[in-house]
Amino acid sequence: MSSALRFQVVGEAFKKQPIDVPTPAERPSEFFAKYVFNRQKMEQYLPADVYRKMIDVMDNAATLDMETADVVADAMKRWAMSLGVTHITHWFQPLTEGTAEKHDGFVEHDGKGGMVEEFSGKQLVQQEPDASSFPSGGIRSTFEARGYSAWDPASPVFVMGDTLMIPTVFIAYTGEALDYKAPLKKALHAVDKAATEVARYFYPDVKSVSSNLGWEQEYFLVDEDLYAARPDLLMTGRTLMGHDSAKNQQMDDHYFGSIPERVVAFMRDLEIKALELGIPCKTRHNEVAPNQFELAPIFEETNLAVDHNMLMMSLMKKVARKHGFRCLLHEKPFAGVNGSGKHNNWSLTTNTGILLHAPGKTPLDNLRFITFIVETLMAVWKHNGLLKASIVSATNSHRLGANEAPPAIISSFLGKQLSDVLEHLEQTTDNEILLSGKQEMHLGIPQIPEILVDNTDRNRTSPFAFTGNRFEFRAVGSEANCASAMIALNSAVAEALLNFKERVDGKISELAEKSEFKDGRHSATYHAIIEVLREDIKTCKPIHFDGNGYSEEWKAEAARRGLDVEASCPLVIDRYLDEESIRMFALTGVFNRAELVARNEIKWETYTKKIQIEARIFGDLCLNHIIPVATRYQSTLIDNVHKLQDIFDEETAKSLSSDNISLIKQISEHTSYITTHVSKLIDARRVANRIESVRDKAIAYHDTVAPLLEDIRYHVDKLELIVDDELWPLPKYREILFIR
Ligand code: ADP
Ligand code: MG
Repeated sequence: MSSALRFQVVGEAFKKQPIDVPTPAERPSEFFAKYVFNRQKMEQYLPADVYRKMIDVMDNAATLDMETADVVADAMKRWAMSLGVTHITHWFQPLTEGTAEKHDGFVEHDGKGGMVEEFSGKQLVQQEPDASSFPSGGIRSTFEARGYSAWDPASPVFVMGDTLMIPTVFIAYTGEALDYKAPLKKALHAVDKAATEVARYFYPDVKSVSSNLGWEQEYFLVDEDLYAARPDLLMTGRTLMGHDSAKNQQMDDHYFGSIPERVVAFMRDLEIKALELGIPCKTRHNEVAPNQFELAPIFEETNLAVDHNMLMMSLMKKVARKHGFRCLLHEKPFAGVNGSGKHNNWSLTTNTGILLHAPGKTPLDNLRFITFIVETLMAVWKHNGLLKASIVSATNSHRLGANEAPPAIISSFLGKQLSDVLEHLEQTTDNEILLSGKQEMHLGIPQIPEILVDNTDRNRTSPFAFTGNRFEFRAVGSEANCASAMIALNSAVAEALLNFKERVDGKISELAEKSEFKDGRHSATYHAIIEVLREDIKTCKPIHFDGNGYSEEWKAEAARRGLDVEASCPLVIDRYLDEESIRMFALTGVFNRAELVARNEIKWETYTKKIQIEARIFGDLCLNHIIPVATRYQSTLIDNVHKLQDIFDEETAKSLSSDNISLIKQISEHTSYITTHVSKLIDARRVANRIESVRDKAIAYHDTVAPLLEDIRYHVDKLELIVDDELWPLPKYREILFIR
């Protein structure tokens, strides 16, 4: 763009007014889930016996027979048509970013030359999208299988515009998962089974356990016209160049400031639409960086929460455009200001309503609490490298390890109170703390307050922090599908709980032989639990770290503790193929080896593509935008030097032009650095592109291409400070980052 155009666009962006968002006539509680075929609507539209069957399908994963599916499909059709719906789509989460959909009309031939609105159970339950263009990491060719999508009745169908959206899993005919949802459901099933067994030690009436997820979505908003004037933002979601704005986040004024009016209008609009789609939005606020905001709904069952996050991300993009913004979900759109994450608040709850990660009123509750905390830590300790692998990406790498976000080492913050409790349990050797009888059982530990003080704000550096009644997995990227982290975490915890159960049961049988247990004076179960917990508290100690995760000392200390300290994204991805990971995913039934191999190929390919696109657009920007403008400005300076020589004597001209001569030199130094290194960048790409192995190619992109982008950027940003503002072709940080 020309600089004249830049000024015009900036000027206009600053003049834009908020658009009017009409207040809905109904209260939020009334329009909540208006566009969702939820239980309430099922009850209204389905015959009673079919409704009961569906409840069984949704709550107990009973199989859905075709007859029932037909009745349900017909009811959905009637409901959807009352909202003006004409199309249906199977909505799924392929391994690329975001969601995918294939729309079909509701119509069928009526056999008499006309059309009839038709939607059968078969269409509801299963479809065959043309899967060949979705990444499968070679699964489909290897297995010569086609992919199909199948309805996930645990996630209700909903209406967007004229389309009935059906949440589905996406799998190959040979059964391998081609998406995020299928393995997520398996992981949730695994943690349900394992946690239920363990919960029954404490509460025999527990029938199932579900996993909770409350995500906090961070994002940036930028004006649409300024966005359009930045080819790098447009193509990669981040700025590849741009000097710091004189003012950015150092005053912390954005965080506490009031939300700009145009943004408030956007947020209101977004919230209304999200509520109508059944997403329980609750909080919204400014974040640390200018133009950065956060939105968080109330936590939900993990499978549903993941769908809602995916839906929310696409909704955010849509609604932002209506308000003349672009919503940036990239983890690091701007250098020098905070990036965006998506804290995943996670916990487990029994069907009887007990929050397993929260302390309770009785010693029994507290033993249960400690059990679930310690076994979560065991999972995180054992699979810390894998958990990191579940959240790394080319884009999130800019955030991890930078001095603002979780470090690239997974550790867990527990806070003083919980640390003390664990330490006490570990060090008390007196097993007489177990008195006879369940209710009188006394742990001999200081009373655990029912609500642990949430002192996590004092430690924002921890990637996996305990926050009172849940863990907060903070390393997840803003753009990511939460499913990736949730698959790894829930499977790993399932494994830890299975292992715990096995050892406790073994100990119970051992103890049962002893007289004090035989005569019922002591409870073998609780005694066994405490002994196993004691071992585990010792074992998983390396994962516990309450200090400063950003410090250099921690990196060294973490390595000594045997934690995974690898920071290179393509190498971190290797953790999925560690024998420990393969065994864990096999035990929990989440992935087989072939799936893990195939999925890793996709991860490496995606990494390479992202850096490749960045490198291409960056090279173009340097050669077509930056160098010409810098050269033009340099010519003006040279011109000026000559003119000074024309009118002054040699000595005077020399002294008057010395500053300009210095600038001319600096410009030459920067431009020649940029030119030669853009050539190097192109060469590095060429070399990398010839590498056959997807893994090695990704490593080459990481080691040889990505660093050049940063190197060259330094010189471009220096030029931005030197070159006349009138000539600079790209909107600057100070213009993009402050919405009026
Ligand atoms: P923060 O102080 O981190 O902003 P909030 O209270 O706003 O925390 O909660 C952040 C998210 O965590 C919300 O989605 C909230 O519903 C969710 N959350 C709260 N308790 C739990 C829990 N026990 N398990 C899972 N998520 C939870
Ligand atoms: Mg939080």
